[in-house]
Amino acid sequence: MTKPILLAMGTRPEIIKMAPVYHELKKNNVPMLLLHTGQHSDMAIPLYRFFGIVPDYNVEIDRSAIAQEDCELASLSSLLLSQISKVLKKTEPSVVLVHGDTSSALMAALASFYQQIPIGHVEAGLRSRNEYNPFPEEKNRVLIGQMAHWHFAPTARAKENLLSEGVDASRIHVVGNSVVEAAQHGASQMENYRTGFTGKKEDSVFLDMLSSYPKGTKILLVTVHRRENQEKNIALIAQAIVELVEKNEDFVVVWPVHPNPIVKKTVYNELKNVSKSAGQRLHLTEPLEYPVLLWILRHAWVVLTDSGGIQEEAVSLDTPVLVLRETTERPEVIEAGAALLIGSETKNIVEQVESLHKDSLRYEAMCKAKNPFGDGTTASQICKILMTQ
Ligand code: UDP
Repeated sequence: MTKPILLAMGTRPEIIKMAPVYHELKKNNVPMLLLHTGQHSDMAIPLYRFFGIVPDYNVEIDRSAIAQEDCELASLSSLLLSQISKVLKKTEPSVVLVHGDTSSALMAALASFYQQIPIGHVEAGLRSRNEYNPFPEEKNRVLIGQMAHWHFAPTARAKENLLSEGVDASRIHVVGNSVVEAAQHGASQMENYRTGFTGKKEDSVFLDMLSSYPKGTKILLVTVHRRENQEKNIALIAQAIVELVEKNEDFVVVWPVHPNPIVKKTVYNELKNVSKSAGQRLHLTEPLEYPVLLWILRHAWVVLTDSGGIQEEAVSLDTPVLVLRETTERPEVIEAGAALLIGSETKNIVEQVESLHKDSLRYEAMCKAKNPFGDGTTASQICKILMTQ
């Protein structure tokens, strides 16, 4: 392979899960280019720094101009398509690797298809079977699946999903999920954060503060960002968090609030009336740097989240997950016994958390669930497959 493989990535989860693939290709001296598609700009920079990656090309997107348009998704997508196409024309890669289900992944795949460049799809075959939930991600991944040449599926179920849509079996490779090696790497870097951490001073102060809570304290990590949870559902979730922290003095909540303005406004609004004593155990933060997030995830009692990546990381770090959604494209985590799908109704969230609080045997079983996303060799498997083409 003399022409480069181009890796397209731009959102937080894409960078985290493509980083192990990037390093594996680099270790094997495979010619490679990295295109940052710019979908998350502020959150991307610390991640590239943490993983020691410098993009070769950057798509510049004026988010404020897009936000002012009526058709935000269409404007973003058309901009991504034209800009990514220009980079492909200039660089003529042999293969384009895209990850998951974002609009930038779909546009990178479509741009590659238009120029007849074969596409490798990392984390292929996830399906919720509800085209509006998650929106637009469910349709994005189905469409990428229609165009990809190599489908790197994390699990046997993902392979079944692809087969049911007519994808040729010889093109599907069940390789696990590279989130496992990313999480292992990030978490191990943080084990001795007091001596080895090179991140921000305020982050280590924050972790010291969390470590100083008395023994028996239970950290509940909360993250919410999905479109289908915005506005009404986030308010319901926040009300549940208030009730839990008010009623349980051993609960400490860490909630890195997603920068989306609707999410931010709703969360801060709902949590402002908490009592003084509960408020001292409720920590709303900006998005956390990835290794800091992993440290908290590893030391948390549970994580309540609608994030896909955090579910996978939690099961990789033995922390039970309560999924704040009605549907999931990762039923494997639930079937493995590591997660419960609890939706976003206040009453149900409170009941589910309190029931787990009372049942230590059930809790322990969730911690010990087997990781359905493989053994941390995904990136090396993908690299081997691409190198034998
Ligand atoms: N994440 C992070 N800091 C935070 C919250 C999340 O680094 O404050 C990471 C998290 O570890 C996971 C990824 O961001 O790997 C998940 O991103 P998100 O929830 O935005 O997307 P999803 O995984 O649902 O596609």
